[in-house]
Amino acid sequence: MNQLALNDLCRDFNLSKEKSELLASRLQERGYLESETKVTYFRNRSKQFEQYFSKTDDFCYCNNVNAMFAAFGENHNSDEWRIFIDGSKYSVKAVLLHKGNKEPSIPIGHSTKVKETYETMKELLKLIDYSSCNWKICCDLNVVAILTGLQGGYTKYSCFLCLWDSRADEKHFTQREWPKRNDHVVGKSNVLKTALVEKKQRYFSNIAHKTRANEKFCQSFSKKSGK
Ligand SMILES: [Zn+2]
Repeated sequence: MNQLALNDLCRDFNLSKEKSELLASRLQERGYLESETKVTYFRNRSKQFEQYFSKTDDFCYCNNVNAMFAAFGENHNSDEWRIFIDGSKYSVKAVLLHKGNKEPSIPIGHSTKVKETYETMKELLKLIDYSSCNWKICCDLNVVAILTGLQGGYTKYSCFLCLWDSRADEKHFTQREWPKRNDHVVGKSNVLKTALVEKKQRYFSNIAHKTRANEKFCQSFSKKSGK
């Protein structure tokens, strides 16, 4: 087996650096490797791309997306990529997803120390230099609310698209049209902070939202039929 075949094998099995090296050394012991194949090749396989990533106290992030794409031998066209941002109580991550899924996804920002909050999202977007690439954003409703600067809980106007009034219970299943959320004024309609990204950059695809919409749809049926 030569180096290329060995590399392919390790990639196919998704092996870590350590496991690739172990496999290579076992194959070598049994005489399956050609003489110029290096067992230690995997130790430094990430070196080539390390320069495009930096660390702060909280984040590990890609410092130059265009240069990283160039190192892959690709042209970076921000229209062809979406940025997926998600977080939890313990971590935040940002991954580039290819439109159409023809290219692999590329993690460009990650933290295991910070929570999903307005401040951390702001910091993350600054670190990965979002404003220069302007990918459309793919995220769940939590992140949409954070990026638009909406109040987190107990909101009267919780929808980021319209002024659906969560308190007007009697109108929920009769009124279909609600005024659109056109202006973004801090202090008005549950907007607490300035939006982190422009409105047109917000892209949105999420299962949680669809489930919620379905739920409401079904509720409206039972209401109409009186069940
Ligand atoms: Zn709405």
